[in-house]
Amino acid sequence: MKKNVLFLLLGVLLTISISILSFNSNDPDENVATRTGLVQDRDVYYPGTEDLAADEMRVVALGTGMPNARPKQAATCFLVELGNGDKFLFDIGTGSAERLSAMKIPYDYLDKLFIGHLHSDHIGDLDALWIGGLVSNRVAPLRIWGPSGAEEKYGTKYMVEHLQKTFTWDTDGRVGNVDTRGLAIEVVEFDYKQVNKIVYDENGVVIRSFPAIHALDGSVSFTLEWNGLKWSFSSDTYPNKWWMKYTLNSDLAIHECFASPKILIDKQKFPPGTALNVGTQVHTSPVQFGKVMATIKPRMAVAFHFFNDYDTQPLVLQDIRSVYDGPLSLAQDYMVWNITKDKITTRMAVIDEDIWPQKSVLGTLPADGSKRIGFSKYIWDGRVNYTELLKKIYEDINNEYGSSVPDPGKEQ
Ligand SMILES: [Zn+2]
Ligand SMILES: [Zn+2]
Repeated sequence: MKKNVLFLLLGVLLTISISILSFNSNDPDENVATRTGLVQDRDVYYPGTEDLAADEMRVVALGTGMPNARPKQAATCFLVELGNGDKFLFDIGTGSAERLSAMKIPYDYLDKLFIGHLHSDHIGDLDALWIGGLVSNRVAPLRIWGPSGAEEKYGTKYMVEHLQKTFTWDTDGRVGNVDTRGLAIEVVEFDYKQVNKIVYDENGVVIRSFPAIHALDGSVSFTLEWNGLKWSFSSDTYPNKWWMKYTLNSDLAIHECFASPKILIDKQKFPPGTALNVGTQVHTSPVQFGKVMATIKPRMAVAFHFFNDYDTQPLVLQDIRSVYDGPLSLAQDYMVWNITKDKITTRMAVIDEDIWPQKSVLGTLPADGSKRIGFSKYIWDGRVNYTELLKKIYEDINNEYGSSVPDPGKEQ
């Protein structure tokens, strides 16, 4: 009797196993996803793996935080990529260059930077884009568009010239060691007072500027129009009449939304007077942001420039929602928007931390060693030369890569 039950049980198990196997083999497509891990929907964005459609715009938040540094949010930077292949950076705040590297874009394509104003949280990683870009194989010169100021010393040109002076030791020391063509910077400084005038018009892309009201004269905001899509970016500003007028019909409108005075007191440890002044007069507070968006009614409103945490987000959202009920993104670093005339999707990028630079698309040239400034005899004579070891390194590399780089040890 017991034997019979056992056989019966085995028979049932065998039948179940066969039916599972036959189900799989009868319907191979049905189970491809479970067998190989391939899924149809991309709920996240993996940089370097998605082509844009010819009519599509992608915007990536590479810095959404405050003027003070924190691991979770870099300072202001947004990347705009278009279906025609063009890419534009807007502001390059402290910490944002690291986020930019995670996009895996060849640096020759990251040669166009637009600056809204000259606060460190909007230009603090300019050296990392400029020289860091060079050592990441950018050969193309860096092109920078930025506003003038009320005086020459408050303008973009002055800032860039002095940044170049600051890095004199750095840049002179690279000449003759690497391809330094990418050190060239072209600055287009435009009148900060100009209203909705074109600052860039190439390849079907039109970028306009108009004044912003922030800290000093010389802050501006931008719109970018291409292929019937309109993108707006405030940089930093108090709510103002130009933004209200010239960002109407925006598909994606990115406006600063600073931490509210209460957050600035409780979390940032500002005294109430400073919190109220900075939070509502120098910047736009969340409720003011809500009013701005309720007026211009974009297809998608994007709030940035606050620390977006589990305890601050509800407060910021409550303030915004008290006056604005339209589409809204509370930006955080690596948020990605894909925009077409029909659809806007919001996702998060999933990044690879083990980033290496891409190849130059223009091609790097070997450095001309004769241009090297070199060392004084006093320093040079301090070298300890492992002549035989170096000879072997040069030989091995030349053999493996088919190169013919002469061993400099022969000159020693
Ligand atoms: Zn600012
Ligand atoms: Zn700022």
